[in-house]
Amino acid sequence: MDILIFVPSSIIVFALGAAIGSFINVVVYRLPAGLSVLWPPSRCPQCLNRLKAYDNVPVFGWLWLKGRCRYCQTKISLRYPVVEGITGIIFLIVFWVFQFSFLTIGYWAFCSWLLALSLIDWDTMTLPGPLTKSGLVLGLIFQMSVGFLTETSWIGLVNQLIFGIAGAVVGLWLFDSISILGSFAYGKAVMGAGDAKLAAMMGAWLGWKYLLIAAFMSCFLGAVVGGVAIMLSRHQMGQKMPFGPFLALGAVIAVFSGEAILSSYLRLFLPVS
Ligand SMILES: [Zn+2]
Repeated sequence: MDILIFVPSSIIVFALGAAIGSFINVVVYRLPAGLSVLWPPSRCPQCLNRLKAYDNVPVFGWLWLKGRCRYCQTKISLRYPVVEGITGIIFLIVFWVFQFSFLTIGYWAFCSWLLALSLIDWDTMTLPGPLTKSGLVLGLIFQMSVGFLTETSWIGLVNQLIFGIAGAVVGLWLFDSISILGSFAYGKAVMGAGDAKLAAMMGAWLGWKYLLIAAFMSCFLGAVVGGVAIMLSRHQMGQKMPFGPFLALGAVIAVFSGEAILSSYLRLFLPVS
């Protein structure tokens, strides 16, 4: 990409991502509480004063308020600008990898859903159905669009739709089986019902092959982090840990390096020709 296009477009993409991150903060805060995500506009949770437009600028608003409400001086969590910054960076990486393509727009949406779900799971140990369901539908729409755009035919569209549905079914079955087997083995639920729904949503976006990579990665990361947390005695044995963030991380790994992982895996088992 030409530097004259690369630099300004990167700045715009980061700003867009940070603005979406700001909205993700609102969704994560309000959705589990059963509040409308659209109304009222951003306000201080303490004094309920409405935020001025210039205080509401992602990342920078928090910085020039020095992390305090303009009216009542209540501390504003560092998490807000961090989530905005991270979303901006995710948008940038997606843009750098997939450039000016439909995939970029699709994966921006996918990553935004994954981030919102991860944060809500982290806070509340639940994955809200409306988010996983809308994410699944969006994944199928993404697949149909990709099919239509790459093959410019309705057959391509139908093929990709089947591909997405198959991925969703595999995701649901896989994690339902894990949770049934787990509850036999441990006598209690090892995984929430939301995890299987999130896996189904991921399957719609990734297809079954990449979904398996994501599932493997998330179990691996979950086991490592869980083990370390127990060692550092931040967690008790058997204490619940949200699994959604690990699933989401596995999905992101599959999006960016699924191809590389798949081909090196196949090379391990197939004779080199
Ligand atoms: Zn305030």
